[in-house]
Amino acid sequence: MLHNPPFHIDGSSGGNIYGNWNAANYEAAVRRVLTRIRSTTSGRALANSIRHRIEIVPYDFRNRPNQCDAGANIRPPRTVFNVSRAMATDVFAPATPTRAAITGQGTGSGSQLQYTPGFFVPGSRLHCIDPGPGMAVDEALYHEIVHAAMNSAGAATPHPLRGFLQHFQSFDEYTAVIVTNVFSSETGRDLRGSYPGTTPLHDPAGFYARNDNAFMIGRVCRLMPVLTRELARVPCNFNPFREFYRASAGLTPHSTRANTRGTSLPF
Ligand SMILES: [Zn+2]
Repeated sequence: MLHNPPFHIDGSSGGNIYGNWNAANYEAAVRRVLTRIRSTTSGRALANSIRHRIEIVPYDFRNRPNQCDAGANIRPPRTVFNVSRAMATDVFAPATPTRAAITGQGTGSGSQLQYTPGFFVPGSRLHCIDPGPGMAVDEALYHEIVHAAMNSAGAATPHPLRGFLQHFQSFDEYTAVIVTNVFSSETGRDLRGSYPGTTPLHDPAGFYARNDNAFMIGRVCRLMPVLTRELARVPCNFNPFREFYRASAGLTPHSTRANTRGTSLPF
């Protein structure tokens, strides 16, 4: 997925705003992607759920030298106080040699997104990330905004996942991938089934009833009711949030296959 970074940053756009590394073109490119996101029901649902400031800046190669990527951070400064506001109230991260213990406060925080649109646009001078499910220029930004929405809702849960869901790495990445899949479904594109990586989602129709997904989607809905109730109304084929709220209302039976491992939670 990750390739060499674009060293050839010379300011000439080649007629493509996504390929030009200067401030005006960067801003124009990001605005164009945001406009596309806001033209969709799932994009408006995401935007409407955010209560804290989001800053979007170009990707900083000092984070991971020689690798193109995108990312979301708690709004700087990344203090224990700010991180605790972003994290859900039932989340506790023990102290490490470099960091104090953090108890989630759930009150929400702002975010800084590192995102360079040209990385994701084939044909752009800056293109350096392989295409694949969820990796289009707007899907990549949508994914990062989901992280910002989690920080804003005080829902961040950076715990690793295990068992059936370990290919999503953490609860936060699971949420970012699955919510972005609703956007991808609304806009008629392939769905992503792993993080990192771009494995296609296997059997999207059976997703909600499979493994621990009903439990996981239930947690996402409890942590982010404003976002997920709006998402449930998005008219698209893949919509596990619609399935959760329909099940909650007794409209379809709860899956008996979900969380069959009893009290063993996936994180
Ligand atoms: Zn992510």
